[in-house]
Amino acid sequence: MSGKVLIVTGGSRGIGAAVCRLAAARGWDVAVNYAGNAAAAEQTAEAVRAAGRRAITVQGDMAEEADILRLFETAERELGAVGGLVANAGITGSITRVEDMTTDAMRAVVGLNVIGLMIANREAVRRMSTKRGGQGGAIVNLSSIAPRIGSPNEFVHYAASKGAVDAWTLGLGREVAGEGIRVNAVAPGMIDTDIHATAGAPDRAQRLGATVPIGRAGTAEEVAEAIVWLLSDAARYCVGTILNVNGGR
Ligand code: NAP
Repeated sequence: MSGKVLIVTGGSRGIGAAVCRLAAARGWDVAVNYAGNAAAAEQTAEAVRAAGRRAITVQGDMAEEADILRLFETAERELGAVGGLVANAGITGSITRVEDMTTDAMRAVVGLNVIGLMIANREAVRRMSTKRGGQGGAIVNLSSIAPRIGSPNEFVHYAASKGAVDAWTLGLGREVAGEGIRVNAVAPGMIDTDIHATAGAPDRAQRLGATVPIGRAGTAEEVAEAIVWLLSDAARYCVGTILNVNGGR
């Protein structure tokens, strides 16, 4: 039997992969987007299938409009009308102070975390809006604790990009709430994924985990719980919410 169709950007690893697996257990068919790690994407898709749901993998750079459009078209063609989007693909950029930050690094972070997310949200709205003949749906964007702490000496550009995600989520959430679409965000704290190694600090989650009030870094699965809940009908009165999942950090 077909389930509701969910697109997860950056679904091959980390929080996105945990979302794919949990969403499958809750009845979603999943389009697993990835940038370069086809093997990880296929592994995630296999986990979705093992849960009895349909899954496809779609390579695509979520900073590129053409790739985003192709992701939505492929998901619709292969799985059916899209009812959920988790805009998860995101990068911190390398850890650096602003005075040493290159313009290219700023553009890369904003291009994916902000512009790419906006385009993906727009494509979801175009398809889901009851005003446009759609069936409604839910969008969950990945914010971060970063805009609340500013991330000095690490990645201020990243913090700023996630601040933009918060404002976008609030505004778009209000704009389309009357059209059957709920737009919300989850703001994770220190989560143990590959993102820290990619930023150049492989031990970051372990090192800073001890300073989190709850005493440890979080897991991708713990963040996925909040995301999949916001996708679900149980969260039907949540609009423009930024849900913190940060162990008290
Ligand atoms: P991660 O472990 O580094 O995984 C990143 C995922 O995004 C991978 O699936 C990767 O695909 C994909 N990706 C990267 N660039 C992409 C692009 N240009 N187009 C499409 N996909 C791309 O990251 P994570 O820690 O799970 O983070 C996921 C989200 O949560 C991000 O938005 C991040 O900002 C946010 N977040 C994370 C934390 C944390 O502590 N981990 C905290 C707050 C917020 P490949 O496998 O193909 O490379």
